[in-house]
Amino acid sequence: MKLSEKMKEKQLLSFELFPPKTEKGMANLPGTIEHLMEFKPEYISCTYGAGGGNVGANREVCQMIKKAGSIPVTHFTVIKNTKEGIREQLDQYLEEGVDHMLALRGDFPMGETSTMGDFDYATDLVKFVRDQYGDKFEIAVAGSPEGHISCRSLEADIAVLKQKQDNGADYIMTQLCWDMEQFKYWLDAIRKAGVTMPVDVGVMPILDQAATINMALSRNGCVMDRELSRLISRHWLFPNPFAAKDAEGKPFDLFYDKKIAEFKEEGIEYTIRQIDTYRALGVEGIHLYALNKWKDVSEIINRSGLRTLV
Ligand code: FAD
Repeated sequence: MKLSEKMKEKQLLSFELFPPKTEKGMANLPGTIEHLMEFKPEYISCTYGAGGGNVGANREVCQMIKKAGSIPVTHFTVIKNTKEGIREQLDQYLEEGVDHMLALRGDFPMGETSTMGDFDYATDLVKFVRDQYGDKFEIAVAGSPEGHISCRSLEADIAVLKQKQDNGADYIMTQLCWDMEQFKYWLDAIRKAGVTMPVDVGVMPILDQAATINMALSRNGCVMDRELSRLISRHWLFPNPFAAKDAEGKPFDLFYDKKIAEFKEEGIEYTIRQIDTYRALGVEGIHLYALNKWKDVSEIINRSGLRTLV
């Protein structure tokens, strides 16, 4: 059964991983996936470096997911990709038993103003995959509850989402959104616009100050609600959370340890409350960005009651 059909029957739990950059990270990942499998995720997605730089590692991670007994969903972007190159890669995914994808445009390479490939938008990719491969792939697409950072307007972005559906997409994976009033508005607006695809909500656990600020502001322009802003302020790592740890991730200052632990504890509480709200809104799936960590993710799942989804 397709994931999008399952989502219509019950709220699904899934995870997102990224291909580690080091050999050690790669060697540790199967262990992490094994722990995450305890929660019987319906699928695990794996990010894809725009430009295809890490496609080898992405394919390896997809195989790890498959071997562990879950469905791999590969993210895929059109950045620097030609039609021929896309076909070659997608043929290879199919040969390797990967037939679920998140069809994305991707972010423009630094300093560029185009995709530098044959397609300009995710809508083109969805159409191309359906034309070339029929129903061989189940296709997810991105949705931005606050509007994509470069969209003309929220309305224009919602029209694009409808176009993705009309071109053959199956379900939506959302960009993170901490502004719940905005999320409710968007959910209502996409349904009014005729978007019937299930909504699988992307949730980034709040575990680290710098990572949270980075994710919100470096590319996505996400609003941090008052509660999250206060949480970051109360535990601010003076003078600068971006320079709080050394290259191995060890805090520079002994006093940081306590602050970091307190921030994480409150961040987990915040994440759980956010999940409660999403679930109460009747979204079709919770897609946790696992950030290649299993301990914190397990804590969130156990404490939130998400276990009842499995
Ligand atoms: P699109 O839907 O193509 O939209 C891009 C912009 O163009 C929007 O402003 C939209 O309104 C506008 N637009 C779209 N179609 C049209 C059209 N036909 N005519 C006019 N305007 C149009 N990036 C990665 O590189 N790797 C990843 O693994 C990755 N994973 C992600 C996972 C999720 C769940 C999400 C939400 C994003 C992810 N991204 C990833 C980031 C994503 O690639 C960027 O947000 C990118 O800038 C936009 O991708 P998109 O598919 O939303 O683009």
